[in-house]
Amino acid sequence: MIKKIFLIASCVVYATLRCIAQSSSSFDKEYVLAKEIIGASRFKVFLNYNNLKIFIGTAYGNIQYGPKGLVTFIHESSHIYDNIKSAGMRDMRYYWSDSNQLLEVRVTPNYITSDSIASILPDYVTNKPLTQTYILCKGDCLSRSYGIFGLLEEFNAYSLEARSLVDMFGFFETCSYTNRPTFWEGYLKSTYDSWINFYYFNIFFSTYLKYASMQRRGFYNSLVNDGHFTNTFSQIYNKYNEALTALDSINRKVRVKVSSGNKKIYSYPFMEDYNSIRALAEDNETKLYLSMLLKK
Ligand SMILES: [Zn+2]
Repeated sequence: MIKKIFLIASCVVYATLRCIAQSSSSFDKEYVLAKEIIGASRFKVFLNYNNLKIFIGTAYGNIQYGPKGLVTFIHESSHIYDNIKSAGMRDMRYYWSDSNQLLEVRVTPNYITSDSIASILPDYVTNKPLTQTYILCKGDCLSRSYGIFGLLEEFNAYSLEARSLVDMFGFFETCSYTNRPTFWEGYLKSTYDSWINFYYFNIFFSTYLKYASMQRRGFYNSLVNDGHFTNTFSQIYNKYNEALTALDSINRKVRVKVSSGNKKIYSYPFMEDYNSIRALAEDNETKLYLSMLLKK
């Protein structure tokens, strides 16, 4: 009897150890690969923050299922970088753009906080998660409390996601670990998220300008006539736009690699959101206000 209990106990211990050993070795492989990918890219400066493991170590960030963990790491690290650069600068804000390029804006006094525009946002976006997160967020979130300068911080971080998807495509294609259908399904999903985020922020910026033109004419005039601001805004906007155009042609190659077809990725609710938000972003009024922020 004593022997039997001992045997059962050892089996349990053995099974548990084996399980941990398996997940640990898979995680190490993912982490080494992630470090290699980031280290070879223009984003390698972000490895200094030592937070890569956080984004790779969850099912959400698992590279086996796509680059979501990698692009989220780049997005969040750019916030750390910008916040360090901008710390203590009350009237300046910095945005990481490249390994040797930092963009800057002068913060216009008496700017409008982003929650002010909620009442005139198009109905379709009012209760959407991105609106809740960036326009109506509680607490001291930059995208709300810092108005258009905080929204630009988020827009820049999302543009880096799209640019990294373009940059890293060659690596993913030549790496046997990532060049397989489960990875490419995740990659396609990330590229479509990039488009959706771009459209949402187009609407946020344009509504912000519309609100400013109606309610705060002085601030509106100083913003659209600030060549420094429109130059920085245009650079971020154009780089994001260029990356999305590049992703469109990359995606034609990627779709061939996804054996399960488009059904799984492009579900009906997803496509409905994509089409609705795109129609709003391409609306004449949205384009008109957005054009005021672009370099003349
Ligand atoms: Zn962010």
